[in-house]
Amino acid sequence: MIDGRACFFQGDSLLLPRDFPDSNIAAGLPVNLSHEFKNYDLFRIPSIKDSSSVINVLSVPRETVLPDYWRTFPVRQALALFSAENNNQTQELDDILRACHIAQWRRDSVFCGTCGAENGDANDGIHRLCPRCGRIEFPRICPAVIIIITDNENRILLAHNKNFKAGVYSHISGYSEAGETLESAVLREIREEVNIEVTDIEYVKSQPWPFPNTLMVGFKARYLSGTVKADGVEIEDAKWFSRDNMPPKLPGEGSLSRHFIDRWMEGAL
Ligand SMILES: [Zn+2]
Repeated sequence: MIDGRACFFQGDSLLLPRDFPDSNIAAGLPVNLSHEFKNYDLFRIPSIKDSSSVINVLSVPRETVLPDYWRTFPVRQALALFSAENNNQTQELDDILRACHIAQWRRDSVFCGTCGAENGDANDGIHRLCPRCGRIEFPRICPAVIIIITDNENRILLAHNKNFKAGVYSHISGYSEAGETLESAVLREIREEVNIEVTDIEYVKSQPWPFPNTLMVGFKARYLSGTVKADGVEIEDAKWFSRDNMPPKLPGEGSLSRHFIDRWMEGAL
């Protein structure tokens, strides 16, 4: 990012002037536009792939009413935008995801979780330090597994989660629990949500998912036994799909779940 410019955030959305083109979001905005907002958190963090490169971030509280000529642009849409332009995740998108995650974490880590004092910032910009008790706090990252499940009949298992938009089907996923390996989380989530057993579990790919603090860890697995039955709690419907009979709607472009489906459609997974 060019010095003197920053990514502006509100929650997990970028903030942009209304006439600012979506295609330019990676360039950031002039930092001096901060005067448009009464309260904000302005900080700098090193870029993840190139620590000599710095990301300036300005984040305004969720409850802030935006000035008339400002708009929000969900970071999820940035994923779709970048995936349309590039096959690989770019440095710019990495920076946006990282900044989005840390901006939200900073709002939740203003005070020390041990003694309640107001946290200070450490020099690297990516951890907090309590001036009273010395407690160090790093950004919380919650690992979740997502699994592409296939069978021997060239089918894929997809499910409709109650939180999905109507008609959208995606892979089984869920957070790993304390003390659990990711492989165990894969088995447990599949068992709990769709009542089947799988085998040949293999790591494929991961994706930061800062909504607000998840790391999606993508696996593939092959159906072993059992009858598919949605749990009726999180999963409202689950079934096998073939390539010529896919669900009406798929997960958003740029997501790991969509990537899995696209790769499978090409025969690569
Ligand atoms: Zn403390």
